[in-house]
Amino acid sequence: MRLSRFYVPTLKEDPAEAEVVSHRLLVRAGMIRKLTSGIYTFLPLGLRTLNKVAAIVRREMDRAGAQEIFMPSVQPADLWRETGRWDIYGKELLRFKDRHGRDYCLGPTHEEVVTDLVRGEVRSYRQLPVNLYQIQTKFRDEIRPRFGLMRGREFVMKDGYSFDRDEAGAEKSYRDMFEAYVRAFSRIGLGFRAVEADSGPIGGSFSHEFMVLAETGEDTIAVCENGSCGYAANLEKAEVVLPGETPGAPMVPEQAPKPEIVDTPGRHSVDEVCGFLGLDPRDLVKTLIFEADGLPVAALVRGDRELNEVKLRNLLGATDLALADEALVRSLTNAPVGFAGPVGLSGARIVADSELLLSGPVVCGANRADAHLKNVLLGRDAEIERFADLRTVTPQDPCPRCGRGLSFTRGIEVGHVFKLGRKYSEAMNASFLDEDGRERPMVMGCYGIGVSRIVAAAIEQNNDEHGPLFPPSIAAFEVALIGLAGKDRAVADKAEELYRVLSEAGVEVLFDDRDERPGVKFNDADLMGLPMQLILGAKGLAKGLVEAKDRRSGERVDLSLDDFVADFAAWRARVWESWGLESG
Ligand code: ATP
Ligand code: MG
Repeated sequence: MRLSRFYVPTLKEDPAEAEVVSHRLLVRAGMIRKLTSGIYTFLPLGLRTLNKVAAIVRREMDRAGAQEIFMPSVQPADLWRETGRWDIYGKELLRFKDRHGRDYCLGPTHEEVVTDLVRGEVRSYRQLPVNLYQIQTKFRDEIRPRFGLMRGREFVMKDGYSFDRDEAGAEKSYRDMFEAYVRAFSRIGLGFRAVEADSGPIGGSFSHEFMVLAETGEDTIAVCENGSCGYAANLEKAEVVLPGETPGAPMVPEQAPKPEIVDTPGRHSVDEVCGFLGLDPRDLVKTLIFEADGLPVAALVRGDRELNEVKLRNLLGATDLALADEALVRSLTNAPVGFAGPVGLSGARIVADSELLLSGPVVCGANRADAHLKNVLLGRDAEIERFADLRTVTPQDPCPRCGRGLSFTRGIEVGHVFKLGRKYSEAMNASFLDEDGRERPMVMGCYGIGVSRIVAAAIEQNNDEHGPLFPPSIAAFEVALIGLAGKDRAVADKAEELYRVLSEAGVEVLFDDRDERPGVKFNDADLMGLPMQLILGAKGLAKGLVEAKDRRSGERVDLSLDDFVADFAAWRARVWESWGLESG
């Protein structure tokens, strides 16, 4: 491609609304343009990278035995009513009506549509397993679309679905997809890690997320420091294992003093209460009031801990979970927010973090304005329905597998594999006849990859002050050929020749044939993030050399023009290798 003809509107300035580097650089490099909030057009440069990511994903899906289909993005509400998701999916589901008044939505995911497809065709165990996938535009009316392609409303996803006869088959499908994901992300060339993920109320480790490791990631990952253990989990999911043996009930020392009211005027927060009473936050109990599917729940954690809402939701088996509003807190506790406690609290289920089983006397809210209770023993003074792991793990906690230390890193979720079981097949009656002629529901799995998010994640992981650093596997072009001809015909001719030779060899080259100053050309090449630059000037030509620059390392070498094809091939292989990739 000649840059003089290429539609690549680069910008000198950062777009005002871009908060993260990938968003900034994607817009500046002329890869994407915003249409409206969370909705972007891919320009030629950006689309080339998107298509390369999709091609790698497609190839690994095919190799693993999945078959590509293409489902509609408009979906009838009736299918969603069958699974009950029409009512519970919430506002992310964009709903609308056709001219006959029938309800539809824009697909945020395709479990219903694919299950409907398969139930219509598959009758016998002989037709299973089936594994179908597509690469398609999804729509989710995200509450906070932001960070450009990282969290859009319209985005490109690879979504796949497996159907098996039994658990063992479903587990094999899951493992095959897991391995295909490892291969796909390795070939894309980004540093990533598969981590255990929350799998909802089903529990178990039937869900893994694939995280591109980057400081700017929205997710935190807890990783075991012991390399041979290998435990890694999303913070939402990472389990807390208490040291030693946990008692089955809270310890209640004999003759311990009774609860006593202490005044805490205007002190609501943990810091304020502890500062005022001269208390260690470990000796305070935080009582958080939630509304879970319309019913009030009080959740207790130690004052220095963070309650994990995902764990709480799973414990309660709730679909909808949110902190209660002030009115509910007042009606339940007879006090403003900040003074709730478990003692004498009626009208709400009370659950507590397991760590509180180890606590002695604690301080908690008194369900009265400006007051707390001290000397509270949870086993004696409050009715706790259940103690369970409800808090978020910290770097001071031990690895739940091997007991060694944990460390935290950040990641961007680019893929998710999930064992669904029979949830959708039962709801939608997707069944088959087994060997004995018995009708049984299929066992499903679903597998997503954020294809457009990967384009952004690649930049979040690899960039410098001049622009993105794309791995050669997904860069829009492998090579930026920069001719510094000026008025020099010989240089211009030689640059044309190199462009022809490379193109004929099947190398993707973006040839800067513009009549621009060298500085402008260098800046644009850097901004487009192409991994290899070839720079041809008069001095080099006189010596029979062209300069080759590795964009990421900055390392420059001279390639011989006489032996250009071989010299270039060897250098190109080295650049790919430096990314841990095999050149194609
Ligand atoms: P997140 O937790 O980031 O909201 P999710 O868990 O809702 O994502 P999945 O339903 O697992 O997402 O979708 C599969 C993949 O699609 C995700 O792993 C992610 O890479 C991508 N994805 C999800 N939502 C978005 C979005 N709003 N913009 C871009 N990519 C997305
Ligand atoms: Mg997910």
